[in-house]
Amino acid sequence: MDKVILTGDRPTGKLHVGHYVGSLKRRVELQNSGTFDKIYIMIADAQALTDNAHNPEKVRQNIIEVALDYMSAGLDPEKVTFLIQSQIPELTELTFYYANLVTVARLKRNPTVKSEIGMRGFGESIPAGFFTYPISQAADITAFKGTVVPAGEDQEPMIEQCREIVRSFNGIYGDVLVEPKILLPDNKACLRLPGIDGNAKMSKSLGNCIYLSESADSIKKKVMSMFTDPNHIRVEDPGKVEGNPVFTYLDAFARDEHFAEFAPDYQNLDEMKAHYMRGGLGDVKVKKFLLNVINAELEPIRKRREELQKDIPAIYDILKKGSEAAEQVAANTLDEVKSAMKINYFDDKELIAMQSAKYTPSED
Ligand code: ATP
Ligand code: MG
Repeated sequence: MDKVILTGDRPTGKLHVGHYVGSLKRRVELQNSGTFDKIYIMIADAQALTDNAHNPEKVRQNIIEVALDYMSAGLDPEKVTFLIQSQIPELTELTFYYANLVTVARLKRNPTVKSEIGMRGFGESIPAGFFTYPISQAADITAFKGTVVPAGEDQEPMIEQCREIVRSFNGIYGDVLVEPKILLPDNKACLRLPGIDGNAKMSKSLGNCIYLSESADSIKKKVMSMFTDPNHIRVEDPGKVEGNPVFTYLDAFARDEHFAEFAPDYQNLDEMKAHYMRGGLGDVKVKKFLLNVINAELEPIRKRREELQKDIPAIYDILKKGSEAAEQVAANTLDEVKSAMKINYFDDKELIAMQSAKYTPSED
Protein backbone atom coordinates (compact mmCIF):
# COMPACT_ATOMS: atom_id res chain seq x y z
CA MET A 1 0.00 0.00 0.00
CA ASP A 2 1.27 3.49 -0.84
CA LYS A 3 2.27 5.76 2.03
CA VAL A 4 0.23 8.91 1.53
CA ILE A 5 0.05 12.09 3.61
CA LEU A 6 -3.02 14.29 3.57
CA THR A 7 -3.16 17.28 5.84
CA GLY A 8 -4.09 20.93 5.71
CA ASP A 9 -5.23 24.13 7.31
CA ARG A 10 -8.22 26.41 7.27
CA PRO A 11 -7.58 29.71 5.47
CA THR A 12 -9.00 31.80 8.31
CA GLY A 13 -5.79 33.74 8.86
CA LYS A 14 -2.06 33.59 8.43
CA LEU A 15 -0.40 30.55 9.96
CA HIS A 16 0.98 30.87 13.46
CA VAL A 17 3.76 29.21 15.40
CA GLY A 18 1.23 26.72 16.84
CA HIS A 19 0.65 25.42 13.32
CA TYR A 20 4.37 25.41 12.76
CA VAL A 21 5.32 23.24 15.74
CA GLY A 22 2.08 21.22 15.68
CA SER A 23 2.17 20.16 12.07
CA LEU A 24 3.95 22.32 9.49
CA LYS A 25 7.52 21.68 10.62
CA ARG A 26 6.86 17.94 10.68
CA ARG A 27 5.41 18.06 7.17
CA VAL A 28 8.58 19.66 5.86
CA GLU A 29 10.70 16.96 7.55
CA LEU A 30 8.48 14.21 6.12
CA GLN A 31 8.61 15.81 2.68
CA ASN A 32 12.40 15.81 2.82
CA SER A 33 12.62 12.27 4.22
CA GLY A 34 11.53 10.89 0.86
CA THR A 35 9.68 8.03 2.57
CA PHE A 36 6.22 8.97 1.29
CA ASP A 37 4.79 8.10 -2.09
CA LYS A 38 2.52 11.16 -2.19
CA ILE A 39 1.96 14.22 -0.02
CA TYR A 40 -1.19 16.32 -0.37
CA ILE A 41 -1.45 19.64 1.44
CA MET A 42 -4.94 21.06 1.41
CA ILE A 43 -6.16 24.58 2.00
CA ALA A 44 -9.51 23.82 3.60
CA ASP A 45 -11.54 26.79 2.37
CA ALA A 46 -14.85 24.90 2.25
CA GLN A 47 -14.36 23.90 5.86
CA ALA A 48 -13.46 27.48 6.79
CA LEU A 49 -16.76 28.59 5.27
CA THR A 50 -18.69 26.35 7.67
CA ASP A 51 -18.19 28.95 10.39
CA ASN A 52 -17.49 31.95 8.16
CA ALA A 53 -20.47 31.83 5.81
CA HIS A 54 -21.13 35.50 6.48
CA ASN A 55 -17.53 36.50 5.96
CA PRO A 56 -16.44 34.73 2.79
CA GLU A 57 -14.00 37.55 2.04
CA LYS A 58 -11.88 36.48 5.01
CA VAL A 59 -11.50 33.01 3.52
CA ARG A 60 -10.86 34.37 0.03
CA GLN A 61 -8.13 36.73 1.27
CA ASN A 62 -6.34 34.13 3.33
CA ILE A 63 -5.85 31.41 0.74
CA ILE A 64 -2.75 33.11 -0.62
CA GLU A 65 -1.48 33.84 2.89
CA VAL A 66 -1.61 30.18 3.85
CA ALA A 67 0.04 29.17 0.57
CA LEU A 68 2.84 31.70 1.16
CA ASP A 69 3.29 30.43 4.71
CA TYR A 70 3.53 26.84 3.46
CA MET A 71 6.18 27.59 0.92
CA SER A 72 8.16 29.93 3.17
CA ALA A 73 8.22 27.22 5.85
CA GLY A 74 9.82 24.90 3.31
CA LEU A 75 7.03 22.94 1.63
CA ASP A 76 8.10 22.48 -1.95
CA PRO A 77 5.59 22.28 -4.82
CA GLU A 78 8.00 19.93 -6.61
CA LYS A 79 7.62 17.43 -3.80
CA VAL A 80 4.06 17.95 -2.52
CA THR A 81 0.71 18.63 -4.16
CA PHE A 82 -1.07 21.73 -2.90
CA LEU A 83 -4.81 21.81 -3.38
CA ILE A 84 -7.76 24.04 -2.58
CA GLN A 85 -10.63 22.02 -1.13
CA SER A 86 -13.51 23.83 -2.87
CA GLN A 87 -11.98 23.22 -6.30
CA ILE A 88 -12.48 19.48 -5.93
CA PRO A 89 -16.24 18.82 -6.12
CA GLU A 90 -15.66 15.08 -5.62
CA LEU A 91 -14.94 15.84 -1.96
CA THR A 92 -18.42 17.27 -1.47
CA GLU A 93 -19.99 14.26 -3.13
CA LEU A 94 -18.12 11.82 -0.89
CA THR A 95 -19.19 13.86 2.14
CA PHE A 96 -22.83 13.41 1.18
CA TYR A 97 -22.57 9.62 1.04
CA TYR A 98 -20.47 9.33 4.20
CA ALA A 99 -23.03 11.42 6.10
CA ASN A 100 -25.37 8.41 5.96
CA LEU A 101 -22.87 6.37 7.96
CA VAL A 102 -22.68 8.76 10.92
CA THR A 103 -25.31 9.52 13.55
CA VAL A 104 -26.11 12.94 14.98
CA ALA A 105 -25.43 11.49 18.46
CA ARG A 106 -21.93 10.48 17.35
CA LEU A 107 -21.22 13.96 15.97
CA LYS A 108 -22.43 15.54 19.20
CA ARG A 109 -19.88 13.52 21.16
CA ASN A 110 -16.87 14.92 19.24
CA PRO A 111 -14.95 16.82 21.97
CA THR A 112 -13.11 19.16 19.57
CA VAL A 113 -16.31 20.19 17.79
CA LYS A 114 -17.99 20.60 21.18
CA SER A 115 -15.31 22.98 22.44
CA GLU A 116 -15.19 24.85 19.14
CA ILE A 117 -18.98 25.35 19.28
CA GLY A 118 -18.55 26.79 22.79
CA MET A 119 -15.65 29.00 21.73
CA ARG A 120 -17.62 30.42 18.81
CA GLY A 121 -20.69 31.06 20.99
CA PHE A 122 -23.05 29.23 18.60
CA GLY A 123 -25.39 28.07 21.39
CA GLU A 124 -28.17 26.12 19.70
CA SER A 125 -27.64 27.93 16.40
CA ILE A 126 -24.88 25.72 15.09
CA PRO A 127 -24.53 25.82 11.31
CA ALA A 128 -25.26 22.29 10.09
CA GLY A 129 -22.16 22.45 7.90
CA PHE A 130 -19.98 23.22 10.89
CA PHE A 131 -21.53 20.45 12.95
CA THR A 132 -20.79 17.94 10.21
CA TYR A 133 -17.32 19.10 9.22
CA PRO A 134 -15.69 15.95 10.66
CA ILE A 135 -17.54 14.05 7.91
CA SER A 136 -16.18 16.32 5.22
CA GLN A 137 -12.73 15.92 6.71
CA ALA A 138 -13.11 12.15 6.37
CA ALA A 139 -13.92 12.72 2.69
CA ASP A 140 -10.76 14.84 2.27
CA ILE A 141 -8.51 12.20 3.80
CA THR A 142 -10.05 9.14 2.15
CA ALA A 143 -10.34 10.73 -1.31
CA PHE A 144 -6.54 10.64 -1.47
CA LYS A 145 -6.29 7.33 0.41
CA GLY A 146 -4.31 9.18 3.06
CA THR A 147 -2.51 6.83 5.44
CA VAL A 148 -0.84 9.45 7.65
CA VAL A 149 -2.17 12.79 8.88
CA PRO A 150 0.44 14.93 10.67
CA ALA A 151 -1.60 17.20 12.93
CA GLY A 152 -1.99 18.67 16.39
CA GLU A 153 -3.82 16.97 19.22
CA ASP A 154 -7.14 18.70 18.49
CA GLN A 155 -7.39 16.61 15.32
CA GLU A 156 -7.46 13.24 17.10
CA PRO A 157 -11.27 13.01 17.31
CA MET A 158 -11.48 13.88 13.58
CA ILE A 159 -9.16 11.06 12.61
CA GLU A 160 -11.03 8.64 14.87
CA GLN A 161 -14.30 9.68 13.21
CA CYS A 162 -12.70 9.15 9.80
CA ARG A 163 -11.52 5.67 10.77
CA GLU A 164 -15.05 4.75 11.88
CA ILE A 165 -16.47 5.93 8.57
CA VAL A 166 -13.89 3.88 6.68
CA ARG A 167 -14.69 0.75 8.70
CA SER A 168 -18.40 1.27 8.27
CA PHE A 169 -18.12 1.91 4.53
CA ASN A 170 -15.81 -1.03 3.89
CA GLY A 171 -18.02 -3.28 6.04
CA ILE A 172 -21.13 -2.49 4.01
CA TYR A 173 -19.77 -1.97 0.50
CA GLY A 174 -16.41 -3.80 0.40
CA ASP A 175 -12.79 -2.77 0.87
CA VAL A 176 -12.34 0.52 -0.93
CA LEU A 177 -11.27 3.09 1.66
CA VAL A 178 -8.07 3.26 3.70
CA GLU A 179 -7.91 3.96 7.46
CA PRO A 180 -5.57 6.85 8.25
CA LYS A 181 -3.38 7.31 11.32
CA ILE A 182 -2.67 10.61 13.02
CA LEU A 183 0.98 11.57 13.45
CA LEU A 184 1.25 13.77 16.53
CA PRO A 185 4.33 15.84 17.36
CA ASP A 186 6.87 13.90 19.51
CA ASN A 187 7.43 16.96 21.65
CA LYS A 188 4.61 17.30 24.20
CA ALA A 189 4.70 21.11 24.17
CA CYS A 190 3.85 21.03 20.46
CA LEU A 191 0.68 18.97 20.76
CA ARG A 192 -1.30 22.09 21.58
CA LEU A 193 0.75 25.22 21.86
CA PRO A 194 -0.93 27.73 24.21
CA GLY A 195 -1.71 31.31 23.21
CA ILE A 196 0.39 34.29 24.31
CA ASP A 197 -2.49 35.09 26.68
CA GLY A 198 -2.03 31.73 28.42
CA ASN A 199 -5.19 30.31 26.82
CA ALA A 200 -4.98 26.56 26.30
CA LYS A 201 -4.60 26.84 22.52
CA MET A 202 -3.03 29.35 20.20
CA SER A 203 -5.73 29.80 17.60
CA LYS A 204 -6.45 32.22 14.80
CA SER A 205 -10.01 32.50 16.07
CA LEU A 206 -8.84 33.56 19.55
CA GLY A 207 -6.43 36.28 18.41
CA ASN A 208 -3.64 35.09 20.71
CA CYS A 209 -1.09 34.15 18.09
CA ILE A 210 2.45 34.79 16.99
CA TYR A 211 2.32 34.57 13.21
CA LEU A 212 5.02 32.97 11.11
CA SER A 213 5.26 36.05 8.94
CA GLU A 214 5.17 38.57 11.75
CA SER A 215 7.92 41.20 11.92
CA ALA A 216 10.63 40.89 14.56
CA ASP A 217 9.39 44.16 16.13
CA SER A 218 5.86 42.99 16.49
CA ILE A 219 6.94 39.62 17.92
CA LYS A 220 9.06 41.50 20.45
CA LYS A 221 6.02 43.41 21.69
CA LYS A 222 4.04 40.20 22.00
CA VAL A 223 6.72 38.16 23.75
CA MET A 224 7.59 40.92 26.22
CA SER A 225 3.93 41.25 27.21
CA MET A 226 3.36 37.51 27.52
CA PHE A 227 1.55 35.96 30.42
CA THR A 228 3.92 34.13 32.85
CA ASP A 229 3.65 32.87 36.43
CA PRO A 230 1.47 35.52 38.18
CA ASN A 231 3.15 34.77 41.54
CA HIS A 232 6.65 35.38 40.22
CA ILE A 233 6.72 39.05 41.12
CA ARG A 234 10.28 39.85 42.19
CA VAL A 235 13.33 38.36 40.49
CA GLU A 236 14.29 36.47 43.63
CA ASP A 237 10.84 34.80 43.95
CA PRO A 238 10.72 31.13 43.00
CA GLY A 239 8.79 30.73 39.75
CA LYS A 240 6.62 28.02 38.21
CA VAL A 241 7.41 26.59 34.80
CA GLU A 242 4.32 24.36 34.40
CA GLY A 243 1.47 26.25 32.81
CA ASN A 244 3.84 29.15 32.16
CA PRO A 245 3.55 29.71 28.41
CA VAL A 246 6.99 31.30 28.13
CA PHE A 247 8.51 27.99 29.22
CA THR A 248 6.09 25.98 27.11
CA TYR A 249 7.30 27.95 24.09
CA LEU A 250 10.89 27.25 25.11
CA ASP A 251 9.99 23.55 25.38
CA ALA A 252 8.67 23.77 21.83
CA PHE A 253 11.46 25.83 20.27
CA ALA A 254 14.69 25.90 22.28
CA ARG A 255 17.55 23.61 21.34
CA ASP A 256 20.84 23.23 23.21
CA GLU A 257 22.72 25.25 20.57
CA HIS A 258 20.45 28.23 21.30
CA PHE A 259 21.87 28.32 24.83
CA ALA A 260 25.45 28.43 23.60
CA GLU A 261 24.48 31.32 21.32
CA PHE A 262 22.02 33.38 23.38
CA ALA A 263 22.25 32.26 27.05
CA PRO A 264 25.70 30.79 27.68
CA ASP A 265 25.13 30.73 31.46
CA TYR A 266 23.09 27.57 30.88
CA GLN A 267 23.85 24.35 29.02
CA ASN A 268 20.23 23.57 28.31
CA LEU A 269 16.60 24.30 29.17
CA ASP A 270 16.60 22.10 32.29
CA GLU A 271 19.27 24.33 33.85
CA MET A 272 17.38 27.48 32.99
CA LYS A 273 14.15 26.03 34.41
CA ALA A 274 15.92 25.00 37.62
CA HIS A 275 17.20 28.55 38.09
CA TYR A 276 13.73 30.00 37.50
CA MET A 277 12.16 27.58 39.97
CA ARG A 278 14.62 28.28 42.77
CA GLY A 279 14.36 32.05 42.22
CA GLY A 280 16.79 34.65 40.96
CA LEU A 281 15.91 34.54 37.28
CA GLY A 282 13.62 37.31 36.06
CA ASP A 283 10.87 37.03 33.45
CA VAL A 284 12.44 39.71 31.27
CA LYS A 285 15.63 37.70 30.88
CA VAL A 286 13.73 34.54 29.97
CA LYS A 287 11.54 36.44 27.52
CA LYS A 288 14.55 38.00 25.82
CA PHE A 289 16.03 34.55 25.38
CA LEU A 290 12.74 33.24 23.98
CA LEU A 291 12.64 36.16 21.58
CA ASN A 292 16.10 35.29 20.27
CA VAL A 293 15.14 31.65 19.86
CA ILE A 294 11.90 32.43 18.00
CA ASN A 295 13.63 34.93 15.75
CA ALA A 296 16.38 32.45 14.90
CA GLU A 297 13.69 30.00 13.77
CA LEU A 298 11.48 32.50 11.94
CA GLU A 299 14.06 34.73 10.25
CA PRO A 300 14.75 32.35 7.32
CA ILE A 301 10.99 31.82 6.91
CA ARG A 302 10.38 35.58 6.74
CA LYS A 303 13.18 35.97 4.17
CA ARG A 304 11.76 33.25 1.92
CA ARG A 305 8.32 34.82 2.19
CA GLU A 306 9.63 38.18 1.02
CA GLU A 307 10.97 36.49 -2.11
CA LEU A 308 7.80 34.49 -2.76
CA GLN A 309 5.59 37.58 -2.35
CA LYS A 310 7.21 39.07 -5.42
CA ASP A 311 5.32 36.71 -7.72
CA ILE A 312 1.80 36.12 -6.44
CA PRO A 313 0.36 34.92 -9.80
CA ALA A 314 2.96 32.13 -9.75
CA ILE A 315 1.62 30.96 -6.38
CA TYR A 316 -1.96 30.88 -7.68
CA ASP A 317 -0.70 28.90 -10.64
CA ILE A 318 0.89 26.32 -8.34
CA LEU A 319 -2.40 26.02 -6.44
CA LYS A 320 -4.34 25.62 -9.68
CA LYS A 321 -2.07 22.91 -11.09
CA GLY A 322 -2.03 21.08 -7.75
CA SER A 323 -5.82 21.22 -7.48
CA GLU A 324 -6.19 19.85 -11.00
CA ALA A 325 -3.85 16.94 -10.30
CA ALA A 326 -5.58 16.25 -7.00
CA GLU A 327 -9.00 16.27 -8.61
CA GLN A 328 -8.04 13.35 -10.83
CA VAL A 329 -7.06 11.29 -7.81
CA ALA A 330 -10.27 12.20 -5.96
CA ALA A 331 -12.33 11.38 -9.06
CA ASN A 332 -10.82 7.89 -9.20
CA THR A 333 -11.70 7.27 -5.57
CA LEU A 334 -15.22 8.59 -6.11
CA ASP A 335 -15.63 6.16 -9.05
CA GLU A 336 -14.55 3.29 -6.84
CA VAL A 337 -16.92 4.44 -4.09
CA LYS A 338 -19.88 4.70 -6.45
CA SER A 339 -19.16 1.31 -8.00
CA ALA A 340 -18.91 -0.26 -4.55
CA MET A 341 -22.21 1.37 -3.59
CA LYS A 342 -23.63 0.21 -6.92
CA ILE A 343 -24.82 3.66 -7.85
CA ASN A 344 -22.92 3.56 -11.14
CA TYR A 345 -26.13 2.56 -12.95
CA PHE A 346 -25.10 3.39 -16.49
CA ASP A 347 -21.91 1.32 -16.30
CA ASP A 348 -23.68 -1.57 -14.60
CA LYS A 349 -24.36 -4.01 -17.44
CA GLU A 350 -25.52 -6.69 -15.01
CA LEU A 351 -28.19 -4.37 -13.60
CA ILE A 352 -29.43 -3.36 -17.02
CA ALA A 353 -29.56 -7.01 -18.15
CA MET A 354 -31.38 -8.04 -14.98
CA GLN A 355 -34.00 -5.31 -15.32
CA SER A 356 -34.46 -6.19 -18.99
CA ALA A 357 -34.97 -9.84 -18.10
CA LYS A 358 -37.64 -8.81 -15.60
CA TYR A 359 -39.71 -7.28 -18.39
CA THR A 360 -38.97 -9.79 -21.13
CA PRO A 361 -42.00 -12.10 -21.52
CA SER A 362 -40.97 -15.70 -20.86
CA GLU A 363 -41.08 -18.25 -23.68
CA ASP A 364 -43.50 -20.75 -22.13
P1 ATP B 1 -9.20 28.12 13.51
O1 ATP B 1 -9.21 28.94 14.75
O2 ATP B 1 -9.73 28.81 12.29
O3 ATP B 1 -9.75 26.72 13.70
P2 ATP B 1 -6.61 27.08 14.02
O4 ATP B 1 -5.60 28.05 14.51
O5 ATP B 1 -7.24 26.13 14.98
O6 ATP B 1 -7.67 27.90 13.20
P3 ATP B 1 -6.53 25.05 11.98
O7 ATP B 1 -6.44 25.45 10.55
O8 ATP B 1 -7.85 24.62 12.53
O9 ATP B 1 -5.94 26.23 12.86
O10 ATP B 1 -5.46 23.88 12.28
C1 ATP B 1 -4.51 23.44 11.32
C2 ATP B 1 -3.51 22.46 11.91
O11 ATP B 1 -2.69 23.09 12.90
C3 ATP B 1 -4.12 21.25 12.62
O12 ATP B 1 -3.29 20.14 12.37
C4 ATP B 1 -4.05 21.61 14.07
O13 ATP B 1 -3.97 20.47 14.89
C5 ATP B 1 -2.74 22.39 14.12
N1 ATP B 1 -2.79 23.40 15.19
C6 ATP B 1 -3.59 24.50 15.24
N2 ATP B 1 -3.38 25.20 16.36
C7 ATP B 1 -2.40 24.52 17.05
C8 ATP B 1 -1.73 24.74 18.30
N3 ATP B 1 -2.02 25.79 19.06
N4 ATP B 1 -0.79 23.85 18.69
C9 ATP B 1 -0.47 22.77 17.92
N5 ATP B 1 -1.08 22.51 16.74
C10 ATP B 1 -2.03 23.37 16.30
MG1 MG C 1 -8.92 24.80 14.28
